[in-house]
Amino acid sequence: MTILYTSTQTNQKPISASQAILQGIATDGGLFVPTEFPTFAFDFEEWQTLSYQEMAFRIMTPFFNDFTAKELRDCIAKAYDEKFETPEIAPVVKSGDHYFLELFHGPTLAFKDMALSLLPHLMTIASKKNHSNREIVILTATSGDTGKAAMAAFADVPNTKIIVFYPKDGVSAIQEKQMLTQVGENTFVVAVAGNFDDAQTKVKELLNDHVLINDMAKHGQQFSSANSINIGRLIPQVVYYVYAYIQLVKKGELKAGESLDICVPTGNFGNILAGYFAKKIGLPLDFLLCASNQNNVLTDFFQTGAYDKKRPFYVTSSPSMDILVSSNLERLLYLLTDRDPVEVKQWMTELKLKGSFSLDKKKSERWSDFKAGYASEADTQNTIANEFKENGYVIDPHTAVADFVAKQNEIPQHKTLVVSTASPYKFPKTVVESISGQSIEVDDFAAIQKLNQLTGLSIPAAITALKEATEKNPPVILPADMKAYVQKILDI
Ligand SMILES: *Cc1c(COP(=O)(O)O)cnc(C)c1O
Repeated sequence: MTILYTSTQTNQKPISASQAILQGIATDGGLFVPTEFPTFAFDFEEWQTLSYQEMAFRIMTPFFNDFTAKELRDCIAKAYDEKFETPEIAPVVKSGDHYFLELFHGPTLAFKDMALSLLPHLMTIASKKNHSNREIVILTATSGDTGKAAMAAFADVPNTKIIVFYPKDGVSAIQEKQMLTQVGENTFVVAVAGNFDDAQTKVKELLNDHVLINDMAKHGQQFSSANSINIGRLIPQVVYYVYAYIQLVKKGELKAGESLDICVPTGNFGNILAGYFAKKIGLPLDFLLCASNQNNVLTDFFQTGAYDKKRPFYVTSSPSMDILVSSNLERLLYLLTDRDPVEVKQWMTELKLKGSFSLDKKKSERWSDFKAGYASEADTQNTIANEFKENGYVIDPHTAVADFVAKQNEIPQHKTLVVSTASPYKFPKTVVESISGQSIEVDDFAAIQKLNQLTGLSIPAAITALKEATEKNPPVILPADMKAYVQKILDI
């Protein structure tokens, strides 16, 4: 089997993995999906002996089949090294009745590091493979975590530039400082007077702006994307679901082959889609629970089959999930319609023009694998408090959203893996206020000390370094001016 990548929106000629990674998004505006899924007959005894890196190699090999074994191994070795605070890379922790998959031990303390540590290495090789000597320009919209993780990953990578747009008032103080302290001549960070959706919509538009693309080609430049619309981000995320499952078997918490539910705090639908991919390649997952915050457009969608982004946008304590247009849902729709690009294109066009689309009843019955729920701000804070009071376990607001939704949807006899996406130290104020039950009038760095005193949880090294670093002053621009800004940076 040779897996290629095809668009969700037209029947284009499929392209290789390296081309799809390089391109980021299909020329018709659709997203790349694998033409088929490999199936793994997991030998649970044997897999227990494998490291994270070895599992990553095995899972990614069939998906990225135009990379040689040596190339893939090199990329993996560079990605999952001492940058991570623990040699386990993605440890599973038991707290109360739930298991938590901690994906925040990378350099920027959020789960984006899991795939972004790898992406620049994949992209550099992809570029060589396709005889492209063009400079790769990464254009990224961030709801807080992707921007920093992508800049950290691409900083000073030869022949690349990275431009990050973030919503001016839509990220936490720590997230903003992380981005504004990024070093690297090839990194650019811009604040947008708008929300994440405004920035993401514009980025997608620019990535498909053929005039701009032609001008760039003349200057030896080419766009790519580090958002989860890039398949090079999605596939590496499949690995940790397998790794988590195997760890649970190894610890005797799961019997080999026993099914497991997962609950994923969701924004752009990338992480949970990777869970769905893990199920499709043969991992014994049962329900996939899609957890949203107050921006609960996905909860409504999974319950009714109608997607409607025409609703208030809330800035919540889990900013990386403050999203009303979840890009990766498009990939799920494509797979659930048995790969019908015409239908998908119609829905995506309706979403763009009218702000909504609706599936008929028959279609909406197909996602029996998925369940959805959401947590209000109060639910989120109570969950942080209860998890600490009952189990002594400290979680961040994103993880708390998933923890709450998992508890709401508990099925007797089912075991649930809650995906933990950020370090509590990335959102210290909310965590301190939730646990202490009192509001505090201090900045995030003072809140970090308080969180440490309150819980005894050790402060990650990346946070300590952040305090000392000097911040740049970001330009603040309107979404309408993003194109001109990109042209200015690229000198075209
Ligand atoms: C990005 C992010 C999410 C949402 O993940 P998606 O793949 O966009 O659904 C959740 N939590 C944190 C901390 C994140 O950074």
